[in-house]
Amino acid sequence: MMTPKIADFLARNRPRTPCLVVDLDKVEENYRHLRRALPRAEVYYAVKANPAVPVLKRLCGLGSRFDAASIFEIEDCLAVGAAPSDISFGNTIKKADHIARAHRLGVGLFAFDAAEELDKLAEHAPGARVYCRLLVDNEGAGWPLSRKFGCSARMAADLLVRARDSGLVPHGVSFHVGSQQTDPGRWEAAIARAAMVFTDLRERGVELGLLNLGGGFPARYRDSVPGIDAFGEAITEAMHRHFGNAMPETLIEPGRGIVAEAGVLESEVVLVSRKDPDDEARWVYLDIGKFGGLAETMDESIRYDFATDRDGDPMGPVHIAGPTCDGADILYEKTAYRLPLTLKAGDRVRIDSTGAYATTYASVGFNGFAPPSEYYL
Ligand SMILES: *Cc1c(COP(=O)(O)O)cnc(C)c1O
Repeated sequence: MMTPKIADFLARNRPRTPCLVVDLDKVEENYRHLRRALPRAEVYYAVKANPAVPVLKRLCGLGSRFDAASIFEIEDCLAVGAAPSDISFGNTIKKADHIARAHRLGVGLFAFDAAEELDKLAEHAPGARVYCRLLVDNEGAGWPLSRKFGCSARMAADLLVRARDSGLVPHGVSFHVGSQQTDPGRWEAAIARAAMVFTDLRERGVELGLLNLGGGFPARYRDSVPGIDAFGEAITEAMHRHFGNAMPETLIEPGRGIVAEAGVLESEVVLVSRKDPDDEARWVYLDIGKFGGLAETMDESIRYDFATDRDGDPMGPVHIAGPTCDGADILYEKTAYRLPLTLKAGDRVRIDSTGAYATTYASVGFNGFAPPSEYYL
């Protein structure tokens, strides 16, 4: 979102492109909004969405907790002052020595979705609280996370009993309904499945305490999405329906929903061309593409919104691509995009809602292009 702070920074400094500019006040606003929408849930910010130090610092200052995907993200959180007890090691795929290091640093909450992972945890993080990730439907998600993560409810129940028997604390279950989930109703089926696991385990003498509702809260890109309050209401209602008075502790792990709309990527047109004089569609090549951080354009999944200084001029159809010598570096060819007919090399193009999953997705230097510079205001 082009906040006054970002607009002012870009106008005053004309920074070299490509660059990402993030308004930390907007990060804070999104965090507070999520807290209001789900007041009973602890917020564990999914660090991978944007691990920049200023973002972690601001969130840490607000009392956010952190969902870390690796030992390196854990160390980044500790470096900005997060308490180890406020960090969840949420990746279900961890090396044994990384588990051991996290445990030594004081992290006490770990995710798993497989027997082998549980055995690693029992050996390298004895006594830790663990939660099992359920496989859930990711229908409606712009960036699904299904198939690769989670296990069936039946397996989760067996594994949580096994966790108890191997000296761990079976603490709860988690799921992720898919990133950029635009349907607030999608949490319900997952919550219902989780409630079944709670019941099953109670009958087997294990009392679970935590339901991790995952991330998935969407950002507005080209198309509008329901507001965060709609998600809060749908989730709260589903929790009451499926847990009644036996309400567990809950937590959410928002990544995109906190940082995406706080950032704007400024890029520059490198070339505008046609493949034939009769072609209506032009090719617009920007100085940022799939290898510069816009990896979520894979399969044209995330459809960014573009703005130029010529937006009042007549528009025409375009394909949009990155600057590298790789045929895969096309952002949009099937999705119908239109840009001003007057657009030419050297013009600036702003890509909105790029505060999440952009900078860290950049290659270190494919074709010699460095990742975008980053500014946090
Ligand atoms: C990526 C991820 C998140 C964050 O997802 P968003 O869609 O960005 O909110 C949360 N939890 C886990 C386990 C993840 O892998």
